[in-house]
This record gives sequence, C-alpha cells and structure tokens, in this order.
Amino acid sequence: MSMIEFHDVEKYYGKFHALKDINLTIERGEVVTIIGPSGSGKSTLLRTINGLERISSGQLIVNNFDLADKKTNMNKIRKNVGMVFQHFNLYANKTILDNITLGPLMVLKRDKAEVEKEAYDLLDMVGLKDQAKKYPAMLSGGQKQRVAIARSLAMKPAAILFDEPTSALDPEMIGDVLDVMQTIAKEGMTMVVVTHEMGFARRVGDRIVFMADGQILEDASDVNGFFDH
Ligand code: ADP
Ligand code: ADP
Repeated sequence: MSMIEFHDVEKYYGKFHALKDINLTIERGEVVTIIGPSGSGKSTLLRTINGLERISSGQLIVNNFDLADKKTNMNKIRKNVGMVFQHFNLYANKTILDNITLGPLMVLKRDKAEVEKEAYDLLDMVGLKDQAKKYPAMLSGGQKQRVAIARSLAMKPAAILFDEPTSALDPEMIGDVLDVMQTIAKEGMTMVVVTHEMGFARRVGDRIVFMADGQILEDASDVNGFFDH
C-alpha cells in the first residue's frame, strides 16, 4: 500500500473551492516537493494529509488510515504524520530537550530515560547537542527549525510534512536546515515538502508537483526535465 493516496479529492472552505480534483499517490520513502504560486492550495493539500483540514469529497488514504471516514481518529493520524511549519511552533517556555521529549512522553507514554537518550541523538544529528538546556528564544531561526525537525522525528512518524520550512529564515541559515532535510530523506523518510527552494527540489526530491488555482497542473517524476520547459 502506498503511503499517501488522493483520489478525486475536493476541498471547499465554505463556497471557496480550494482543492480541485486532486489525484496523487506518494510511495513510502518518496520525497515529493510541491511548488506553485501563493494561494494555489499547497498548504491546504499538506494539511489534509495529517487531518488538520478535512477533505470535502473524494478518497484520501494516509498510512492505511481512511481520512474521508468521519470515524477515523485524527489524533492517530497526527501520531503517524509529523509536520514542520514555517514558524517552528516550538513551546517557548520549555527547553529544547523538553520540546523534543514532550510528545514521546505525553502522547506515546514512553520511558523517560530512553526518550531523552533518543532526543540527544536527534539533537546530535541536527547539530544542536550543546543547545539542549536552552530555550527557543535563545536560538536562531535556523536552529529553531532544526529543533522542530528533531521534535517531529522523535515521534517516529511514518511521514513528515514540511510547510515552507525555510521561508521565514535568513538566507545564511537555510543551508543547514536543507542539509538536515536531505539527511532525513537519505534515511528513507517519506517527505512532502512545500518549498520555494528549487535547488532542494531538484537535488533531493524524487518528484515535483506543481499546483495552481487548487489543481495539480504537473506531476513530474523527471525532476530535471521539469526545469527544461
Ligand atoms: P498556498 O499554500 O498555496 O499559499 P493555501 O492552501 O494556503 O495556499 O490557500 C489556498 C486558498 O485557500 C487561498 O485562497 C486561501 O485564502 C484559502 N484558504 C486557506 N485556508 C483557508 C481557511 N481556513 N478558510 C478559508 N479560506 C482559506
Ligand atoms: P546560527 O549559528 O544558526 O547562525 P546565530 O549566529 O544566530 O545562529 O547564533 C549563534 C549562537 O548564539 C547560538 O549558539 C545561539 O544559541 C546563540 N544566540 C543567538 N541568539 C541569541 C540570543 N538572543 N540570546 C542568547 N543566545 C543567542
């Protein structure tokens, strides 16, 4: 079974038609980048995948969960599918370490010593092991985003969604965040990434989906060919 399957999906916000006839299949381990103009529905598409928005009609299967079914428990989806936001969404009054361990401890009810050990390994992976006891306000934007990625990974998700993860960052911090994302991609994580970073889309992505006006205009598995026309 594929990780994510959209079949004839429509999404309305009231009368506004935000997603139009979306058909999209994403395999396990695939890295799909989504590009397109502002307001084209990229964020809406992403948010339907972890149940932050419900689809209006059609079929949406994520990690074997049926998201069109009103009985499906959205908390289970969010345990399975991580999300990294443009503005980090870290808990300001918690340390970096606590930001990462909170989900595994409170939501997954896991053992504290084990969770903390894993959190330090994740902080090491994102290059922030020495920042564990600091608070988010003491970190740069790029560092905060790397913490947000580590926090997402700590839940051991089946897939991670990224909604313009570098758009709020100063240019000199973007590279470190993209490097971490590339590392995760290489380890086989399924990733759906809304981004303006064409270099990343081209280098790391297996496919590029181009959206405009709520529709998928192009779904290019030939990532380099995409840029030729
Ligand atoms: P993108 O991520 O490509 O910029 P969005 O998915 O954020 O696009 O938005 C697509 C369209 O849906 C926009 O016109 C936006 O104003 C509208 N929209 C997004 N969220 C809502 C909402 N909660 N209620 C009403 N309209 C919304
Ligand atoms: P980067 O290394 O991602 O470019 P900065 O240059 O902004 O980040 O930060 C370098 C160091 O200074 C980091 O260790 C960070 O924790 C620390 N730092 C940044 N801003 C503040 C702040 N407002 N208060 C305390 N420490 C800070």
